[in-house]
Amino acid sequence: MAGRIRDEDIALVRERARIDEVVGEYVQLRSAGGGSLKGLCPFHEERSPSFNVTPARGYFFCFGCSEGGDVITFVQKIDHLTFAEAVERLAAKYGVQLRYEEGGSAPGRQHGQRTRLVEAHRAAQVFYAEQLATAAEAEAGRQFLTGRGFDREAAVHFGVGYAPKGWDALTRHLRGKGFTDTELATGGLVSEGTRGVYDRFRGRLVWPIHDITGDVIGFGARRLYDDDQGPKYLNTPESPIYKKSQVLFGIDLAKKEIARRQQAVVVEGYTDVMACHLAGVGTAVATCGTSFGEEHVKILRRLLMDQDEFRGEVVFTFDGDAAGQKAALRAFTEDQKFVTQTFVAVEPGGMDPCELWQAKGAEAVRDLVARRVPLSEFVIRSTLARYDLSVPEGRVAALRAAAPIVARTKDRSLRPEYARSLAGWLGMDVEPVLAAVGQALRGSRPAEVGAAGAAPGRPETAGRPRPDDRELMVDREALKTALQQPGLTGAEFDALAPEDFTHPAYVAVARAVSAAGGVTAAGAGGEGWVTRVRDAAGNDAVRSVVTELAVEPLRCDGEPDSRYAAEQVARIQERQVTRRVVELKSRLQRLDPDAGEEYSRVFGELIALEQQRRLLRDRATGEQ
Ligand SMILES: [Zn+2]
Repeated sequence: MAGRIRDEDIALVRERARIDEVVGEYVQLRSAGGGSLKGLCPFHEERSPSFNVTPARGYFFCFGCSEGGDVITFVQKIDHLTFAEAVERLAAKYGVQLRYEEGGSAPGRQHGQRTRLVEAHRAAQVFYAEQLATAAEAEAGRQFLTGRGFDREAAVHFGVGYAPKGWDALTRHLRGKGFTDTELATGGLVSEGTRGVYDRFRGRLVWPIHDITGDVIGFGARRLYDDDQGPKYLNTPESPIYKKSQVLFGIDLAKKEIARRQQAVVVEGYTDVMACHLAGVGTAVATCGTSFGEEHVKILRRLLMDQDEFRGEVVFTFDGDAAGQKAALRAFTEDQKFVTQTFVAVEPGGMDPCELWQAKGAEAVRDLVARRVPLSEFVIRSTLARYDLSVPEGRVAALRAAAPIVARTKDRSLRPEYARSLAGWLGMDVEPVLAAVGQALRGSRPAEVGAAGAAPGRPETAGRPRPDDRELMVDREALKTALQQPGLTGAEFDALAPEDFTHPAYVAVARAVSAAGGVTAAGAGGEGWVTRVRDAAGNDAVRSVVTELAVEPLRCDGEPDSRYAAEQVARIQERQVTRRVVELKSRLQRLDPDAGEEYSRVFGELIALEQQRRLLRDRATGEQ
């Protein structure tokens, strides 16, 4: 990094980089009268434009999401850059020569070096692309792409090129453009031998690797010829601008979609990224010659960050093979906050996204991503797959192996749910599974004994549930009814398990209701009832949620009646039954129809549950 940029140069950048021009590259702007322009906001989803730009003052502001600032702020936000990076980017584009204050952390020379290396890479990319398009020798490269369903347009879109077989084609080309051997060697475009430098990539198909701002910083190169002794894929080595732990192929194209859709899809290869993008999964990226690590997590987090809150999901398309499973297990031991929002999409036939796109088309690729399962489920199921679940010994061994995984889940409110799922996949009752998880917990962390069952000693709420969270509306309304109208709610509410609620805060409130004797003990309710629940709440965070739920008006038209109360409980029950149905279905898939007794028993249970689900659904929608 260079030292501080001089203020007068920053001012010059602001002056030269017209905000309407810069914004116009990302957003279609039209006149809104009074010298002001309007467009659809790039920072939030909207149908009618509330994003305003006033060129005369050099500012933008969105009336929908309140993002606003000057041209530098805009580039920072849209390209996820630091202030200095944004200034440098605009300066390069608008021909402002930046000067840096003395005493910065690095001399200006290094800043110049980056620019030189990026320029060399840009020239190399153009050279390679021309070779692919025109050179007779590049036929093997063109055939490789055609064979995978990529046409000329796709190759151009991703900047794919061809590195000629000879030893110095690129070297000579770049020397002719004024680059020194030292620069080429520093950037990793050439290798150094005893007789000087020679092209690093020879007789290969090459993909340019961009940084997040779109600069080419390296290449990934695939072997094309049988007599090539090198590895199948060869990448740029570590250089001042290329750090493999921080690069993601496709990030420059995917970043806007990732931020907009709040989803990132991590695939394994260059062709997978291409296939995904062409299939409409514009959020796909791939690591380059290394496995997905902590630095990559940080990059995606930055794109998925929304007002200091990490939301959205990361979907991995692992091979179903051992390596993919290992990668998943490794991810599972890392950042738990990241893990809870991590999903895995596995193609049952073992095809990667590129093969899938070729064989079954774009929709199959989108389906693959849509059918993702939580990483935790994938990890547990991968573990179970190692055992023969058709015999009791196998199930017991599988339980012993899987229970510690459930116990390792840091968010303890998720453990009961995982345990229930595990029981379903094993075809066991929940109790022995919970016991095994408890045992695994005691084995690893004695301090947490009983924590999953007892009232929490400290707030375990990972933040207060938002009143308008649609996902949690069912839970919230049921608890509000229990607190405000216990007389209407009745025994059915008490029959729910606290773990049937999905948010940790709501689980805690349900426990408090239960600890206060349940709604049936509350009689007709009244003030004393809420106080009893508050007293049973265990800590201030939960107490405060109890108060909130006791006060917030119920979402019903007119006075709540017993039917309204029954609907709320039925919704929760329906959700539980649905979960059980999913479990049973997956168990049925594992069972051989010829196995006879067990198959018919599971099948019978499934039919009964489906019936129960229909009944509950009717009741939940007030049709009965
Ligand atoms: Zn906005």
